[in-house]
Amino acid sequence: MVTSKEVMELTSAYGANNYHPLPVVVAEAEGVWVKDPEGNKYMDMLSAYSAVNQGHRHPKIIQALKDQADKVTLTSRAFHNELLGPWTERLAKLTNKDKVLPMNTGAEAVETAIKAARRWAYEKKDVDANQAEIIAAKGNFHGRTMNAISLSNDLDATTNYGPFVPGIYKINYGDIQALKETITPNTAAIIIEPIQGEAGILIPPEGYLQEVRKICDEENILFIADEVQTGFARTGKMFACEWENVEPDIYVMGKALGGGVLPISAIAANKAVMDVFTPGSHGSTFGGNPLACAVSMAALDVIEEEELVDKSLELGEYFAIELSAISHPDLKEVRARGLFIGVEFTKPVRPICEALKENGILCKETHETTIRFAPPLVITKEELDWALDKIKKVLQAN
Ligand code: PMP
Repeated sequence: MVTSKEVMELTSAYGANNYHPLPVVVAEAEGVWVKDPEGNKYMDMLSAYSAVNQGHRHPKIIQALKDQADKVTLTSRAFHNELLGPWTERLAKLTNKDKVLPMNTGAEAVETAIKAARRWAYEKKDVDANQAEIIAAKGNFHGRTMNAISLSNDLDATTNYGPFVPGIYKINYGDIQALKETITPNTAAIIIEPIQGEAGILIPPEGYLQEVRKICDEENILFIADEVQTGFARTGKMFACEWENVEPDIYVMGKALGGGVLPISAIAANKAVMDVFTPGSHGSTFGGNPLACAVSMAALDVIEEEELVDKSLELGEYFAIELSAISHPDLKEVRARGLFIGVEFTKPVRPICEALKENGILCKETHETTIRFAPPLVITKEELDWALDKIKKVLQAN
């Protein structure tokens, strides 16, 4: 049997350097539980950065994968496949938009949204060639591609990768005044996460999303909501924009859209925006492939059938109240929307995450001082109580 140590040694010998906050090898997984090669069992409180909202290897999604694998897996966009129509229709209805454009990863969907906004600015807003501007919020995480890191102000993500994409302006998250001051006649769009995930589960001040919506309407600017991490029931709503009853112009979606089984991402927008793409102007070989569409359909079924939106909301509230009640000298704040929870301390939390791992819970810090708790949404109250006991025990000793 291959050991965890051997796996990690081989991976670091031949694999490029990567970020592995905790040295764990996951060899098997089911629901909220994962196992390493030695048979140690852990509760997954990260859910592959919210890609596994439906739980690991959900039987319905795995069945859809197997069934579709027996028919056809890839056609490229050169040909049609039977699943793309029903899948785009379903996602369009879910987002209340006219049209959906499939991609593969979250970063690619972000790229797609930025490209759509630029074309829209030239073709619908009469911005001069190459002058379109995009506004982003500091602290964001939109992915690893050049456009996405050009939106970022994180040193780890950007150092020595320049020159960056021009025409991007970064303002403080939640700062309406800064937004007003940054807008020019060339502004095409503002892109924001309705709750900043990688920044530490930062919930914007109440009314912020509404204000952004209002300003975008007044100034004729597109509101791009990056719901890659917050979408699909994670925050106790299907999309986190619903916390303020706001409809963005472009939804950016990924992660749990593929049920933790395959990569599939998308943007959704109305015709006025989406029709700026003409045949041949944008695309992806794997985008909207039948295997990913079949998996995604099942992933959406699971969210509906198992009422994961309500579950995330109810269990998230319960979990956050219990976490807030823990008395600990260094615990600063619990921030929660559904099962998207950040617990901020006044000290680095890596030692706490390590102790949690020793007690059977896998989680990680977002930045140095915040632990993110984001289990698969299929978690039961009993499983959450089990985790709460462990967390309390670890916090007493750390
Ligand atoms: N946007 C947000 C808000 C994200 O959290 C992430 C991933 N953490 C991405 C985009 C990028 O997604 P991917 O890793 O699939 O490219």
